[in-house]
Amino acid sequence: MANRWTNWAGNVECAPQAIAVPRDEADAIATVRAAIREGLTIRATGAGHSHAPLCAHDGVLISLDRLSGVRSVDVERGRATIGAGTRIAALGEPLLARGLALANQGDIDVQALAGAISTGTHGTGPSLGSLSTMVRGLRLIDGRGDLIDIDENTPALLRAGSVAMGSAGVILRVTLQLVPAYRLHERLWSAPLEQTMDRLDVLIAATRHFEFFWRPDTGLCDCKALHPTNLPLDPMTHLDGQRIDHSYRVFPSVRQVKHVESEWSVPAENGPDCFREIHALMTTKHTDARMAVEYRTVAEDNLLLSPNYGRPSVTISIHEFVDRDWLPYFTDAQAIFVNHGGRPHWGKWHSLRALDLANLYPGFNAFQATRRSLDPDGVFLSPYMRGLFG
Ligand SMILES: Cc1cc2nc3c(=O)[nH]c(=O)nc-3n(C[C@H](O)[C@H](O)[C@H](O)COP(=O)(O)OP(=O)(O)OC[C@H]3O[C@@H](n4cnc5c(N)ncnc54)[C@H](O)[C@@H]3O)c2cc1C
Repeated sequence: MANRWTNWAGNVECAPQAIAVPRDEADAIATVRAAIREGLTIRATGAGHSHAPLCAHDGVLISLDRLSGVRSVDVERGRATIGAGTRIAALGEPLLARGLALANQGDIDVQALAGAISTGTHGTGPSLGSLSTMVRGLRLIDGRGDLIDIDENTPALLRAGSVAMGSAGVILRVTLQLVPAYRLHERLWSAPLEQTMDRLDVLIAATRHFEFFWRPDTGLCDCKALHPTNLPLDPMTHLDGQRIDHSYRVFPSVRQVKHVESEWSVPAENGPDCFREIHALMTTKHTDARMAVEYRTVAEDNLLLSPNYGRPSVTISIHEFVDRDWLPYFTDAQAIFVNHGGRPHWGKWHSLRALDLANLYPGFNAFQATRRSLDPDGVFLSPYMRGLFG
């Protein structure tokens, strides 16, 4: 029976010729070289939490699950080198033991590190970039089957490789810039939409991480504010919608409802108007949309395929249960996002292709040149990826 692979949400599946789980770096190199010899396409997969069909194809799907764990820590420089398949959830404790932590995290922590950085996974906070901006080094296998190490001495490669969706090579290990370990004070509350929108700038400025989910069922915004604190761990966890805990325990939520998601990064100044148009779309045309809209902030960066390239950003994401007919809603929302200069989150649904993307991403052509230098024969390009890159 053919190999089957499906993503977490279940909206993407494929039957690859082989699913390889190499036991170490040498085995990964041998796997890639064998696939190249046989003329098979190679796609890497992490935890399969992308909603876009980034991993789906019929060649060799390679999982780096066994290349896992913190390999080394440079406490003085605040850096750690980590196996590509390491789940983000597995980083908190070993890093805390060395007095270090990730500067920011997203809503969940079950992604593989290489998977998360490859799509520009981010949290919220106007002073903080995505996980990809924390990358200071990558070891990867390129499209010739060669091992290469890239770091700050090869800035062009680093700016391309830190968000590349597996198109620049198979990442084996990642070196991250970390920050001193910290605790977060979390506050959760619900508030009417207008009250939240009227105070949005104040709310964003008041703490390091502010976000809200507008819920169509209640019409309210579920707000979350996190701020570093020196107060001790709070034994009264979750009392009154507040808690204090180590950062890596506070950031992630548990997401069990299988859904599809589309998320767009718009220039920060367009965030409120763009959100209002999405809200109007949901309350006039797509009144049956069931799931919340999330509003976050992200700092600008200079990574070629980062949605936050060159501009402070607001990210707005829409969700829908996977078994509903979400496409008409997402398609209408995409038109609003694009109209606001939105760039899609690579791991989530969008229907843009190379020509659209080249207009949206100023670094697109530079990225393409670097990608071709690393993978001249396109061994990492599935049909979906060819659609993205032309
Ligand atoms: C419930 C849920 C919550 C989410 N929350 C957030 C959030 O808060 N913020 C946010 O920004 N995103 C969020 N996402 C999106 C998610 O973080 C990204 O889609 C991420 O890429 C998933 O990581 P993964 O390990 O599952 O990677 P996969 O989906 O398996 O792969 C993603 C990409 O990485 C590539 N890749 C994986 N491993 C390697 C490797 N070793 N070498 C080279 N390329 C590789 C794959 O080829 C693919 O292109 C969420 C998704 C879900 C389902």
